[in-house]
Amino acid sequence: MGALLDGHFRLTSGLHSSGYLQCALVLQHPREAEACGAALAERVRGLGAQVVLSPALGGIVIGQEVGRALGVRAIFAERQEGRLTLRRGFALEPGEKVLVVEDVVTTGGSTRETIDVARAAGAVVVGAVAIIDRSGGQQPLDVPFHSLAAVSLPTYEPESCPLCLAGQPLVKPGSRTV
Ligand SMILES: [Zn+2]
Repeated sequence: MGALLDGHFRLTSGLHSSGYLQCALVLQHPREAEACGAALAERVRGLGAQVVLSPALGGIVIGQEVGRALGVRAIFAERQEGRLTLRRGFALEPGEKVLVVEDVVTTGGSTRETIDVARAAGAVVVGAVAIIDRSGGQQPLDVPFHSLAAVSLPTYEPESCPLCLAGQPLVKPGSRTV
């Protein structure tokens, strides 16, 4: 579906990469989005999640689809002054079982932040899922983690990025049409 892009990208984590997975290009097709959500739901059905929580914006569509497949509600956290926060009247009950849903996990940073949002509300995070795991198995999450596919793409610290050295323009995905 053309979701795997070649170039020079600044990832949300701050790392640079020659590849980017723009999951929105898959999720724009409702049937494919629904199929991804159903496949992720099958992997975690036994965890007994009562609600899905995703980080905005990337996690919203797939979170909705996983929630649909599990038959539970799907809410999202969004950044307010740099911090992920529950807004719009979204709330978690103390002890409520939460599944965190992402589109792509690279360093696991935003997943961990989303887990922290749930725990701060007193909820219990029973697991996390992503369509794509590009962490190389390195994501240090303290909950069960599942993905539909593991994809290995090179990532670089900005100060040692060969693409920067070569003078290739840096693109922040989502900030313009690629
Ligand atoms: Zn670079």
